Amino acid sequence: MARRKLVYEGKAKILYEGPEPGTFVQYFKDDATAGNGAKKDVIEGKGVLNNRLSEFFMTGLQNIGIPTHFIRRLNMREQLIRQVEIIPLEIIVRNFAAGSMAKRLGMEEGAALPRPIVEFSLKDDKLGDPLVPEEYIIAFGWASQADMDDIVAMALRVNDFMSGVMHGVGIKLVDFKIEVGRIWDNDYMRLVVADEISPDSCRLWDIESGQKLDKDVFRQDLGSLSDAYTEVARRLGVLPSNVTHRPKPTLIN
Ligand code: UDP
Repeated sequence: MARRKLVYEGKAKILYEGPEPGTFVQYFKDDATAGNGAKKDVIEGKGVLNNRLSEFFMTGLQNIGIPTHFIRRLNMREQLIRQVEIIPLEIIVRNFAAGSMAKRLGMEEGAALPRPIVEFSLKDDKLGDPLVPEEYIIAFGWASQADMDDIVAMALRVNDFMSGVMHGVGIKLVDFKIEVGRIWDNDYMRLVVADEISPDSCRLWDIESGQKLDKDVFRQDLGSLSDAYTEVARRLGVLPSNVTHRPKPTLIN
């Protein structure tokens, strides 16, 4: 059997050529990185959880009419996706101050923002994904004004959906990142949500305790990342059957 062709290997995922033209297979690795690759580890089971969680969120978005690149999950670590032309931006939506925003503006982590704020970073690891104003994006031709209007509207819809779903399971959606790609149908272009949506690219805090259930657990050495992601998957009812959380044995006197 011919080996399938690797298209691209990133920090947390690999893209292979798909079974039909215009498709890719997206493979979720267990690798975790933070600080633009400065901190690295392998977290057993992370890829399996993120594959399920991204499937859950992308399917949910499609169900409310937000187009995504997702076609179907193939197995524990792989999903079939539409091939898209990725817009080289990280689209970040924030509901509460955290991370780079809290640092840049000297704000307290968790401070509520007056309204959801959408911001953009240029996807460029060498430059450390710098924050870029819309003016740059349009002037340099990374996206048009019409694209940006669509992207902001789409990002805010994704935020409403994700905030609601997470709120329903007692989790606060502090912020998240999405990527958007173009799909061409002859001369007609559509923008779709691409890449992944998972706790790798969101900040998720337990509403009651404030406990972090996202990649900050890894970035800040706060405990077990797989426990945190398993908890998110468990609450959403998407825990894969082979990732079980058995209670630790207790001594009976
Ligand atoms: N984010 C991401 N990939 C990146 C940068 C950020 O998925 O390369 C996510 C991050 O997990 C958080 C949100 O985008 O949910 C905002 O991140 P921030 O700008 O605060 O950067 P950070 O503090 O993560 O460096």
